Amino acid sequence: MILLLMGPPGAGKGTQSKRLEEAYGLVQLSTGDMLRAAVASGSDLGKQAKALMDRGDLVPDELIIDMISARIEQDDCAKGFILDGFPRTVPQAEALAAMLADKGLSLDHAIELAVDDDAMVKRITGRYTCAKCGKGYHDEFEKPAKEGVCDKCGSTEFTRRADDKEDTVRNRLDAYHAQTAPILAYYKDEGVLSDVDGMADIDAVTAQLKGVIGQA
Ligand code: AMP
Repeated sequence: MILLLMGPPGAGKGTQSKRLEEAYGLVQLSTGDMLRAAVASGSDLGKQAKALMDRGDLVPDELIIDMISARIEQDDCAKGFILDGFPRTVPQAEALAAMLADKGLSLDHAIELAVDDDAMVKRITGRYTCAKCGKGYHDEFEKPAKEGVCDKCGSTEFTRRADDKEDTVRNRLDAYHAQTAPILAYYKDEGVLSDVDGMADIDAVTAQLKGVIGQA
């Protein structure tokens, strides 16, 4: 099964992808996570992407398309995958369709998490993760049981994404509306588009997604 979760930054694509990964035995492919790993490793790709990411601009299509096409060749993707943050432009959507067609595959569902922009700024600027195990928290909505200590692994070190500052978030939202939202029409024409209410609480969103996807 091949799923695509769409929605502006902060809509919950990453959180829900992780839940669907477990529920359906799929692999989450987050281009944002891959790029952050490239930046951290100091690779050529990371060097090219860093300044764009820090500003909240999109990384050029050809870099992203090469990165994802290499990733879906890996063995763990054979069981199916969830795309999180890709495609983000019409050329990326067209490249994805060609990559899948080459393998005799096609997208099963493109699901939009429908949310409101102002709420996204609040969600994103308050989020942070445990530096050791990656568990996500939020200043207001999801605090650890004991302040400053990770509930899952006990670590006391936390990190925030460099691009989760308000100005950058607004630029990322603009990029979504200008460059990514037009893909919704593309998937609607393909007959694979559904939408769920991304403003509902996390469990309710997962339940709606499972309703769209159906049985594993
Ligand atoms: P994300 O973690 O999905 O919010 O992505 C973080 C940043 O990585 C974005 O603001 C872009 O700069 C870059 N990025 C991630 N995925 C893509 C993509 N499919 N196309 C272009 N840029 C991307």
